[in-house]
Order: sequence, then C-alpha cells, then structure tokens
Amino acid sequence: VSTTEPVNLDDNDKLLGGLLTSGFDEASCKSRMQSHLYRKASPHKPSPYLISKLRKYEEIHRRCGPNTRDYDKSMKKIVSSKNNGAATKCKYIIWNTANGLGNQMISIAATFLYAILTDRVLLVKFNKDKHGLFCEPFLNSTWILPQKSPFSSWNEHNTETYQTMLDKDRASNSKKGLPSVLFINLQFSFENPEKYFHCDHSQDLLRKIPMLILRSDQYYVPSMFMNPFFNLEIANMFPERDIIFHHLGRYLFHPSNDAWELISSYYQAHLASASERIGLQIRVFNAATTPKQAIMNLVLSCTLQQKILPEVDLKTSVSSAGKNMTTVKAVLVASLHKEYGDNLRSMYLKKPTVSGEVIEVYQPSHEGKQKFNDNGHNLKAWTDMYLLSLSDVLVTTSLSTFGYVAQGLGNLKPWLLYRLVGNHSGDFPRCERDFSTEPCFHMPPKHYCNGEPMNDIVSSFPNLRECKDLRFGVKLA
Ligand code: GDP
Repeated sequence: VSTTEPVNLDDNDKLLGGLLTSGFDEASCKSRMQSHLYRKASPHKPSPYLISKLRKYEEIHRRCGPNTRDYDKSMKKIVSSKNNGAATKCKYIIWNTANGLGNQMISIAATFLYAILTDRVLLVKFNKDKHGLFCEPFLNSTWILPQKSPFSSWNEHNTETYQTMLDKDRASNSKKGLPSVLFINLQFSFENPEKYFHCDHSQDLLRKIPMLILRSDQYYVPSMFMNPFFNLEIANMFPERDIIFHHLGRYLFHPSNDAWELISSYYQAHLASASERIGLQIRVFNAATTPKQAIMNLVLSCTLQQKILPEVDLKTSVSSAGKNMTTVKAVLVASLHKEYGDNLRSMYLKKPTVSGEVIEVYQPSHEGKQKFNDNGHNLKAWTDMYLLSLSDVLVTTSLSTFGYVAQGLGNLKPWLLYRLVGNHSGDFPRCERDFSTEPCFHMPPKHYCNGEPMNDIVSSFPNLRECKDLRFGVKLA
C-alpha cells in the first residue's frame, strides 16, 4: 500500500474487505453499509480472485441485465428461437422459487456461484411474497426478472426439460437441435432421479443453451465441486473451502430498509447491551407428532450439558439472589411456536442461575405455522434468520436450512440439536458442534458421470465430508 494513498479502513470494513463494491446509494440500502456495526468482523477475507470474479460478474450483469440493449436483443432471439438453439450475446439463468425462505436463499447462493462459473446472468423470479425483503445486490442493475418478461408467466410444462434432453442426447448421441430454453429441476425429492448436473457431458450441452430456468431448494455447491473445471475455479475463488456461503450470502442478501428497521431496532432494544448473545433456533418439522415437552427437554439438555446456558438454582429465589447478578446474557429464540420462548423465560424469571448470570429471553415472532406466499411472514422469517446470525453462540435444529442461513451469514459453527422427532430415550448426544458453517447439500449425486454407482462419496472426493445432521448429505470441508 502506497503511503501517499491512505486506505480508508472504515470503508474497507463497510465493504467487508472488498467483497462488496462501492458506489451504491447508501440510503437506498442502509444494511449494506451498516451490517459491520452489528456483526463481528469476519476473520475470513475474500480472496483477490473472488473479488475479481465478483467485479467481472457485476460488469456482465450491468451489460446484460434488464433494461439494457443487450438484454432486449438476447431475449428477443431466445423467444423467437425457443426450440432450436440460438447463439446470443448474453446467457441467463432464472432461479425459481421452491420451499421455504431458508431453502430458497441457499439455492440462490448456489445458483449465483453457478452463474459466475458459467458467465450467465442470474435473474430471480420473486413473487409478491419476497418483494421488499432484500436490497438489489448488483450495482446499477436489478436481479429481479421483469414482470413483463415472457418467462415471468412461464410454465414448465411447455418447456423442454433437462431430463428429456439428456435422454435424447444419450439416444441419438447428437448435439444438434438443442433448445434455447431449458427447464432444470434440482429440487429435493425422495425419489431423487440422478441429475448428472455436474458432469462434463451435461455442462457441455447446457453451455450452448442461452436460457436456463432452474427450480431448486438445494445448496448444490458440493456437486459443482465434483466437476474438475468448476473445482479449479472454486478452489481459486475460495482458498478456504468451508466459507463459501459465508461470502456469497453476505454478498447477496442485504435486508431491505424495511427489514433492516425491524432487525436493527430489535437488536438495539434487546440484544446490543448483553455480554453474550445466544441464538436458539427451534424448528419443529412436524408439530402434530412431536410432543412439546420432549422438544423442551431436548433443548434444555443440550444447552445445559454444553454449558451454553446456566442451570437454575432451585434453592434460592430470584429476589434474594438479585444483588450478585451482574452479567446479562440474551437468548434469542426463533421458533414458529410461542411456548418455547415462554417456557425458557419463565424458568429464568422464577429462579436465579447458579452462575449468577441473568438470562433474558426474547422471541421476536411466533407465526404458529409455516405460511406460503405471505410477504409479512417472510419478513419475520428473514428478521429471525438475520438476528440469529448476529449471535455469539448458535444452537440450530438439524436439517433446517433456516438455521444454515443464520450460521453461514454469521460465520458460526452451530450446536446442532438432534432428533426432535421420535424416541428420545437412550444415550445419543442431544446436540453436537458442527465442523463448519457451510450449509449441507441434502441431495448429492449417487453416480459417477459414467453411470457407475458412487458408493462412498466422501472417499471419492476428499474435500467433501458427510454432514453431521444427514448421513447421506455432504458439505465442503
Ligand atoms: P427449513 O424448512 O427449516 O429448512 O427452513 P425454510 O426456511 O426453508 O422453511 C421454513 C419456513 O417456515 C421459513 O421460511 C418460515 O417461513 C417458517 N419458519 C420456520 N421456523 C421459523 C422461525 O423460527 N421463525 C419464523 N419467523 N419463521 C419460521
């Protein structure tokens, strides 16, 4: 660094070490420039190569994104040659919604990485339920698929699918007659038909198709890592393989001003002054079949055994212990159900803790159940995820992508609560510390690209590890 050019450290912090680009109008998205005031500085600096790839992507998005000449020209050509491939100046991938907000965010991040790796422009099809949750991530452009685009009312039944294209390709061994628009389904399903998405033979075909329409709820980054070309690029962009979502998530997902108002005011009112913030995410996948008491017992045995929360002193009353209580720890409970926050709060209100700490319990919302196509509901979900990500210690529920978003944004290796369903007797651990902050990919390939079954994914790909919360899931490590 030249001494004649003083580095503005403040700007470097605000821009997360160069991850974010300067030039945005700060007032239109306050969270982008204020997040560093709420979250501990990340020890993980973005690599120069990642920064250069992001700046290059922004350039492509600015040139090819909505409201540009190249966008209009490319779209016209794509639409007019729907069933017989066209070479266009710009190529696109439109991300389509599936499942809850956490699933959606991890799959948008994966799709953004895919867009960077393949020089495509990422557009997201957001219905009303996601309006006003996030700021625009790309300078001087938009990532929202325009309402008037022919692909905004697109129907997957009228579009050639990736699966049929692969079948045809295999049958005819010909690369002629590729469509201009192709639908790819990478959504989780229990049947999980093999996708071969990461394989060279698929990517060779997909590269020639200017418009991909993707539906996914998965963090499929580990599958990209299985492709040698993508692998090399990803390794250069992310010398630390286990913080990919941490970077991509903080790059893409900035709370809108409305969301930021809720997040920052809640944080200031309840969490800012605590000596430690503990995030507790209690996700109940099937409320009808899971007794509330069993869940509460599990949460308590995890947090007390691991000394995340202190025991209460059953012999003393709060009033007689009051004088010694100096340290305040704040617990942020995120759950659809009110009882968990209430139970924990009343436990610590009735009795002092053996450690003398004061435990304050907050739960910003309790929506009762997961709701779909509901903007206000998603705003609460986003608020909860973001507040959890500002914790010092995080406890999440195994398998929950809602928790994955919080841990990734916050660079937190969470304590994973195990088995909220089923029989809780026996000696298994109530929770275990995860080894990384990356989301788990729940649906990895089951075959090598030549069709041979892949029996042991982890020994075939040394940088992948089995997820702690899902035996057949993998994550980068
Ligand atoms: P997952 O199902 O746990 O993997 O997470 P998703 O985010 O994909 O789907 C769950 C959805 O249920 C969320 O997006 C919310 O709509 C709702 N939800 C679940 N848990 C909570 C919570 O703790 N707080 C809020 N506000 N909503 C929640």
